[in-house]
Formats: sequence, C-alpha cells, structure tokens
Amino acid sequence: MKYISTRGGVEPIPFSQVVTMGLATDGGLLLPQGVPRMPPSVIEDWQGLSYPQLALEVMEFFVGDIPRKDLWTLIEHAYTSFDHPQVVPIVKVDGVSVMELFHGPTLAFKDVALQFLGNLFEYLLSQRGERMNILGATSGDTGSAAIYGIKGRKNMAIFILHPHGRISPVQELQMTTVTDANVYNLAIEGTFDDCQAIVKEIFGDLRFKDRHRLGAVNSINWARILAQVVYYIWGFLRLREKGMNEVTFTVPTGNFGNIFAGVLAKRMLPHGAIRRLVLATNENDILHRFITSGDYSLGRVVPTISPSMDIQVASNFERYLYYLWDRDPMKVRRAMDKFKKTGRLTFTAGELKRVQEDFDSVRVDQSLTLKTIGEIYRETGYILDPHSAVGMAAALASKEEGVPMVCLATAHPAKFPKAVKKAIGKEPPKPMRIAELEGRKRHFEVLPADVIKVKAYIEEHAI
Ligand SMILES: *Cc1c(COP(=O)(O)O)cnc(C)c1O
Repeated sequence: MKYISTRGGVEPIPFSQVVTMGLATDGGLLLPQGVPRMPPSVIEDWQGLSYPQLALEVMEFFVGDIPRKDLWTLIEHAYTSFDHPQVVPIVKVDGVSVMELFHGPTLAFKDVALQFLGNLFEYLLSQRGERMNILGATSGDTGSAAIYGIKGRKNMAIFILHPHGRISPVQELQMTTVTDANVYNLAIEGTFDDCQAIVKEIFGDLRFKDRHRLGAVNSINWARILAQVVYYIWGFLRLREKGMNEVTFTVPTGNFGNIFAGVLAKRMLPHGAIRRLVLATNENDILHRFITSGDYSLGRVVPTISPSMDIQVASNFERYLYYLWDRDPMKVRRAMDKFKKTGRLTFTAGELKRVQEDFDSVRVDQSLTLKTIGEIYRETGYILDPHSAVGMAAALASKEEGVPMVCLATAHPAKFPKAVKKAIGKEPPKPMRIAELEGRKRHFEVLPADVIKVKAYIEEHAI
C-alpha cells in the first residue's frame, strides 16, 4: 500500500516512510491510496483470531514494506504489556457493550496505539541506523502514554514538557516515576499553552530539528490511526459471534483520531456492518456543531472534567474532509487555508447529508456526565471515567432497539478520581498499576518557560 497527502503534494510513499514522516511534508495528512473492502470469507477467517492475530491481519493490508514475521513481533510485543488476556475486553453495562480500551500501562486508550508505535519506531530506526528524539507537550494522558511507548527503546529519547504543578496527581505520578535513562520530564514554570508554544517554536527551527532528529508522536501519525482501526473490527467480530450482523459504535472524541479509525473500519467491513458512528463531545463541541448543522467554527476551549477532549481544532478532521470531497486535494488545501484565516468552514446541504450518513452526534455537558457516572454506578456498580461517561450518555441517548451499541471506554476511572468522587461520593479503587508507583522517586527537571533554556537542555541530553 502506498500513501498520499490530503493536500496532494507528496508522491506516493511506502508505509515505513509514512510512520517517520508524521505530518506530510506539504502540511497535509497522510492517507492510504485505498481502503480495501473485506469480502465475507475474510470476515469468517478473522472470527476466531486473538486480538494480536487480528491486528496482524488488518495491518498487513496497509503496511507492505515490513516482513510479516517482523510485524508480528512488533504487534505481539505491544499487546503483552496489556493486563487483560483479551487486550480490549467488552463488558455489558446497562444494555450497552462497553469496550474497555484502558488495560495498557498508563490506563488510557492511547496505549493501544503508542505501545505499537514505540516498537515500530525502534524497529525502523535500527534498520536505518538512525536515531530520533521525541519532543512533545502534554496536559496529561498523551504524555504518559508516549513516555511508556518510548521508554527504554534503543536509539530514541523522549522529552515531554508539562506545566509544573498543573497536571493531575495520577498523571504526574505516571510520567515522573519512570526511571529509564532516555526519558526526560521537563516541568515548565508556566501553563500548558506555554509548553505548547515552546514545542512549536522548537519544531519551527528547522536546523535544530534536523540536527537532533526531532520527531513527534501526536495523534496525526498514521500508525496510531491504523492501530485503532483494529479494535472496531474486533468489537464487530465479538458481536457477530453472538449472532449480530450490525453494530453501532459511540466514541468520545477530541482530536477526531479515534473516530476516524472507526470511519476506516466502516469502509473495510461489509456494507452496513457498522451501522452508525455516534460522536460524543463535551462542551467543546465544534464537531457536534459540524455534524448537526454543517458549521465548523472555532470556539474558545472550555476546561471540563473530561480534559482529554477539551479540544477545538480536531487535528485529524482534514483526513475526513479529503474523503467527503471525493479525494480532491485542491479543495482540502483551499479549505484549510480558509479555516486558518477565518476560523470557520461551512458546508452545503448536500455535504451535510453525507456527513449525517456517516455520523450521529451528541453533546454531553458536565452535569450530565456526572449524572451518568452516578446513575450507572447505582444501577450496575460499574464506575465510568468522565470521558467514557460522555460516551455512555451519548450511547444511551442514541441507542436503537435491536441494534447492539458498543461504547468505547477510553480511560480507567482511577485516572480521574476527583470527578468520580464528585459523582458517586467516593474515589474508585486504585488498580495495581497506580498503587505500585506511589512512594517512588519522581524524576523531572524544572525549567522556566523559556525556549532558549529548553533548547539548551535538549542540546545537552539528546541522543
Ligand atoms: C485522547 C483521549 C480522548 C480523545 O481521543 P481523540 O483520538 O483525540 O478523539 C478521549 N478520552 C481519553 C481518556 C483520551 O486520553
């Protein structure tokens, strides 16, 4: 499989090049030239596979330039770090199938992709005799999942900036107790926005970037999307073995990454197998407004109890636009320029109709999120984290009689004990993965919000 850019400026390139390129060199996002629709016989063959085996079969369609046995090793190694034999188990809660994506090392769904991506980077770099320094800013989940994906890898180091004293205690615990020598936590005396601005400025210094082989692991990386396609197909197969032929997924969304993987899975599976994709947002509802009224316009970011969805510009949205506009890169390019200038895109009635054939959407505010955590707990004893609860509220609101609903649970409740306590009057039980970190020494470097100081630090420690 070869890959092209949503903005048309990249000659078709192979998978391994896509992984290390990240953002396309023309500023667009990379996509496969085609998405193969699976015939029923293939679905039948996939039915009995374990999660890693299924991942191998699905990914092979999109990889092409990594030998099958090597790809298997990368996948198998990624998912042995999960603490459940099914990797992403499905549990029945109040008539909804909750797919738990949080059994990886940092207890959030980003592990599903980042454990694999870390392996893949290490493999590609050692083949090419190259090195790479990952740089990123985090307000929480992404940073810890990225650190756990890269820690201990050969030929790689990772520098993660976080706002000093302003991230949640669990997230700080996960990030700073890592002892691997290739992990650098930089606690910046400033806000998350300061951290992001510093990272952006450093990436903008192309000579510095080149010299230190700086890379990113953000959610636009195609390999992350690909790893996420697998669990939609897995979810469909688990319901299919119970005699269901169609399924609807509800996805709590921020950057449109997770749900875009659902769009691809929908195209791969037989027609109608994924009946609908329900997009769930919190008060940061740009995507909900897009789906319900065709208005994609930038609002202010409102902080909520589901912070990993407090996003306005959904970085993967451009990939969907490329499909919506029948693969017209010039149209995508013009639209992204316009959005940059005006902060707004509008869509015609015809386009809106097609969007609504792909998605439903529900906006869930904080009071409904808390109410949902409370009600589900009282009725079933199951504790949802606030992100999964946004999904659950949306799933309950849009469930159709006779169509199984799978709701993606994106984080373990113990990552967000304060919000859970507010909803049910007590904190959720602490899993081993968190309890065993408490009391360990914290490793981080406090630095001023000064790009020169951060660069000097990287200069000194980069591999
Ligand atoms: C990142 C994240 C999300 C949002 O995922 P996107 O791919 O950005 O849509 C939702 N929930 C949790 C817990 C996350 O960490």
